[in-house]
Amino acid sequence: MRAQWPEWVSDWAASVKNLIFPIFCKECGERLFSEENGYFCAHCWESSPRIERPFCICCGKPHPGLAGFGMPGNYPCAECREKPNRHIRRIYGAARYEGAVEAAVKLLKFAGRERLAKPLGALILDFAQRELDVESYDLIVPVPLHKVRERDRGFNQSRLLAREALPAFPRARLDESLRRIRPTRTQSKLKGPERHANVRGAFAVSGDAVQGKTALLIDDVVTTAGTATECAAALRRAGAALVDVLAVALAVPDPDAPWISGPP
Ligand SMILES: [Zn+2]
Ligand SMILES: [Zn+2]
Repeated sequence: MRAQWPEWVSDWAASVKNLIFPIFCKECGERLFSEENGYFCAHCWESSPRIERPFCICCGKPHPGLAGFGMPGNYPCAECREKPNRHIRRIYGAARYEGAVEAAVKLLKFAGRERLAKPLGALILDFAQRELDVESYDLIVPVPLHKVRERDRGFNQSRLLAREALPAFPRARLDESLRRIRPTRTQSKLKGPERHANVRGAFAVSGDAVQGKTALLIDDVVTTAGTATECAAALRRAGAALVDVLAVALAVPDPDAPWISGPP
């Protein structure tokens, strides 16, 4: 067991370490003097856009032009009204996949910066306490990695995030009976239709722990919801009563982008 130093000793040691090995914000390059989250200054972290009401009650995306105006009611977007997701009731995202949050997710996943699971987990914990019916969930289910990928990475980022978020859910326990039964390619390297084919049939549930349960699936980023939908389908096949999804970040299209508004 590691010796427990008094707090002033570890503060002093951290300051000395910071003097010799200065650390800088990964977003703006500003020198960091506290070890707060170790990678981003408070300004970059706080100004990375969060998702606020009103957002779509199904896919979680903020309604363009209205977000941040503090409207109390959420409602489905046109896309979800037209094509509802058959397996997922609701998708929630705490932040937009932009700025410091995007950089933090990438450092966690692709550069093994495990420590970032804490501030990222805090984002979903805060969001859950604000926006979700936290009493209603029986199971918190991390999106699994294939065992080979997890061995190479050393951890599953969704499990780390799920552990951080768990205290928000008084009745729920962490459940890992959902497995990735075949290796898949990294979704971010693929285009829309390829993403769905890549994850189709990639997940299965072992045992009957999810039978009749209300499950909240935890993921780092939701883009086209291909992975989340496949996970939810596997959970539903195994008897889960309902599946919602909570992600740290949602890839939200820019409403002003020309490919969204179409040609003039
Ligand atoms: Zn910064
Ligand atoms: Zn929607």
